[in-house]
Amino acid sequence: MTSTTPARMAATRARIAANVARDRFAAPTTLRVLRFIAAHLDSAAAECESYDGTTNAPFSRMMRSLDDAVELITMHTDTRFTASVVDYITAPLSAVPLPEPRRLYPVDARYAERESALRAELAQLHADTGAAESDPERWFSAVLATLAKWARLAGIVAVDNARPYNRARVAALHLKCIDCGGSTIQFGARQWAVCACGKGQAWADAMSCECFGYACPAVRHDAAN
Ligand SMILES: [Zn+2]
Ligand SMILES: [Zn+2]
Repeated sequence: MTSTTPARMAATRARIAANVARDRFAAPTTLRVLRFIAAHLDSAAAECESYDGTTNAPFSRMMRSLDDAVELITMHTDTRFTASVVDYITAPLSAVPLPEPRRLYPVDARYAERESALRAELAQLHADTGAAESDPERWFSAVLATLAKWARLAGIVAVDNARPYNRARVAALHLKCIDCGGSTIQFGARQWAVCACGKGQAWADAMSCECFGYACPAVRHDAAN
């Protein structure tokens, strides 16, 4: 393979993601969305390829196309794409480390095992920088295939964790009182939470997970009570 520039590497990854989106098997309505995602990724690649070293305008236009793709990906989880596809595409330009998928905190041990396996699979691919450069097509397709499996698992876990009888176990995985270590915590206004033991604490202190505020399923459940 000939030596390549970061811009060309980024464009190549956008093209590969577009092809994966086009080739992905899905229900007809999802297929339509996947085709739109592919079109946005293709224009991101074209913008990136038009970079001639004089101005950064192509990168701004590229980011807009990528934002459009992410908007669709976020709205349509059935596409089994993750918003992190953008981080992979821009990584050659930004030199930012490849993203770790957010933790799912499954209550069911089988899903926890599956999550660990997919994390290991992804970590292995991330570490294989040689393959990423010498055979980007195969490498990035493999990354996107693993992320698709992860996205599917994320959907399954979200449904399973939301079952009412799993509520306490979900809370135990996300919350930990700074005083008693318990997870029966009420989340109130102004980011203030109160544990069943009576200890008041900031939301962030009561959360032992990596979630952001309202995005935490344990916080949402308590707030709805
Ligand atoms: Zn407590
Ligand atoms: Zn959480």
